[in-house]
Amino acid sequence: MPKNENPGLRSKVLIVGCGFGGLEAARALAHAPVDITLVDRANHHLFQPLLYQVATAGLSAPAIAAPVRFLFRKQPNVTSLLGEVGAIDAAQKQARLIDGSALPYDHLIVAAGATHSYFGHDEWSAHAPGLKTLEDAFEIRRRLLLAFESAEKESDPARREAWLTFVVIGGGPTGVEMAGTMAEIARHTLPGEFRHIDPARARIVLVEGSPRVLQAMPESLSASAQHQLERLGVEVHVNARVTGIDAEGLDVDPAGDAPAYRIAARCIVWAAGVAASPLGRQLAEATGTQVDRAGRVVVLPDLSLPGHPEISVIGDLAAAQSHAPGREPRPVPGVSPAAKQMGRTAAGNIERRLRGEATQAFRYRDYGNLATIGRNSAVVDLATPVGPVRFSGVSAWLFWLFAHIYFLIGFRNRLVVLFDWASAYWSAQRYARVVAGIKPARSP
Ligand SMILES: Cc1cc2nc3c(=O)[nH]c(=O)nc-3n(C[C@H](O)[C@H](O)[C@H](O)COP(=O)(O)OP(=O)(O)OC[C@H]3O[C@@H](n4cnc5c(N)ncnc54)[C@H](O)[C@@H]3O)c2cc1C
Repeated sequence: MPKNENPGLRSKVLIVGCGFGGLEAARALAHAPVDITLVDRANHHLFQPLLYQVATAGLSAPAIAAPVRFLFRKQPNVTSLLGEVGAIDAAQKQARLIDGSALPYDHLIVAAGATHSYFGHDEWSAHAPGLKTLEDAFEIRRRLLLAFESAEKESDPARREAWLTFVVIGGGPTGVEMAGTMAEIARHTLPGEFRHIDPARARIVLVEGSPRVLQAMPESLSASAQHQLERLGVEVHVNARVTGIDAEGLDVDPAGDAPAYRIAARCIVWAAGVAASPLGRQLAEATGTQVDRAGRVVVLPDLSLPGHPEISVIGDLAAAQSHAPGREPRPVPGVSPAAKQMGRTAAGNIERRLRGEATQAFRYRDYGNLATIGRNSAVVDLATPVGPVRFSGVSAWLFWLFAHIYFLIGFRNRLVVLFDWASAYWSAQRYARVVAGIKPARSP
């Protein structure tokens, strides 16, 4: 039975969010007999895996972001709108934007992604920004570069040391990348540019609550990553729980009998917790669906919601399971390949419903994990048909580099990033160091 609610008319598909999931879903529907409205609160699609490069002044924003309108200029069935969805009215089949307008739909794909979680300590966010959007990256870059400027002017040794102490909280891929790159900036980019401080003596600390960094990787690669970080001069504190953060530093409580300690630091980055977009909870309440502890919407095997086959939730916002034939369902990780694959499945299921066919369960194909630590340092854990292939060091770094360039959106961006990285590799320079809008401190 065709489920077109507008007989004779094309179905209206509304996609909320043009991240990895939403973009892929819209592209997969290019030849479907539907009219798509793609709404995002940003005017660009963001390649988050390279966001840390913007936060550490290695790349400029346009190299890792592309205007949504430009991406869909050749797909006439997509209308791109700039707007933030505040609520879904499942009964009326419309999304309400925070500007008061409404967007009707026959089929809805919600791909609003995730945000930071400070584990109930939202007050920490002012002192330890997280990295999720371009605005976050600009703020971290500002704090990072201006800390060296403040240290150059500071005459008190303790205060100078606090300006020259950089702490990253969270030893996942983002935390490891941030800490490694901060160490490179301090040791290789800035030396020679200051007269009163030696940037190479800056202290870079990575604090991780669990026993090892890169928890999602096998233990051997975690150990290799920690070793590579330490070689770059990063202090790695594992089994260390952060109990307080303020403008002057952070308090750390190590596991076991070791005493709690404080690190005086003026530049702290939060890379520890992720929570689903608040839209997930609202949608769950509106549809009587469950959310998990991270606020992700618990979806059915075909990514739709119970009692609402017309609504799919995908990407980081979905608590989804992978359904491979002959295997137990397995939870799907919050990574970009999973979001893209869910986007394709959700789009395919809309077409199946339009044809009156049964929908398909989602199956995640895991190709492995990569993380870079710095120039010439990375770890790679590939899932291949003949078993896992694991390597680290320079070869892993080259693999990581070309994989990221390959997956970047836009030919121009690939060229820009390749050129910027090649020149940064030979010169150790980072050219995106311009900070606009600095307000000079005034005497009271
Ligand atoms: C710093 C960082 C590094 C990462 N590195 C890697 C990596 O190396 N490899 C990897 O596989 N994964 C990585 N990830 C994870 C990966 O980026 C996510 O899994 C992926 O982006 C999820 O895709 P998504 O479509 O669900 O959400 P997103 O890509 O986050 O997209 C969500 C979109 O929804 C929009 N939006 C949100 N709320 C609303 C609203 N209310 N109204 C309108 N629009 C809205 C946002 O503006 C955004 O465009 C990284 C993530 C971060 C933050």
